[in-house]
Amino acid sequence: MEQHERAKDVLAQVAELAEKNSTKSIKKLLQSAKGLDALACPLVEHAIVYAPKPRWCAVCFRMVTARDADGNPTKRRTTTGGRIKTRCSACKLHFCVKKGCWKKWHHQHEHEDV
Ligand SMILES: [Zn+2]
Ligand SMILES: [Zn+2]
Repeated sequence: MEQHERAKDVLAQVAELAEKNSTKSIKKLLQSAKGLDALACPLVEHAIVYAPKPRWCAVCFRMVTARDADGNPTKRRTTTGGRIKTRCSACKLHFCVKKGCWKKWHHQHEHEDV
């Protein structure tokens, strides 16, 4: 199968997962060998689209252990990262554009033409 064919296959799965809002599964799929191959495909267009609802950024969003005033970890969990409306049309994940998360995510799959 051609890379573009394989990529279309992976992105169809991504779109399916996006319907179910399984951001975690999308990330896992795109970071697998199959997913990286699809992201490396130069025929796949990654365009910034504006989603109606803000979502956590797929790159900088993390659950972290909260710390108390003395800097000791507590049992509380908190989050870092922002909620943004910018989403990739192909990856179906949200990324901050201004903070560089968009670039970071797509950089590892970049081709010489970028
Ligand atoms: Zn971000
Ligand atoms: Zn993308």
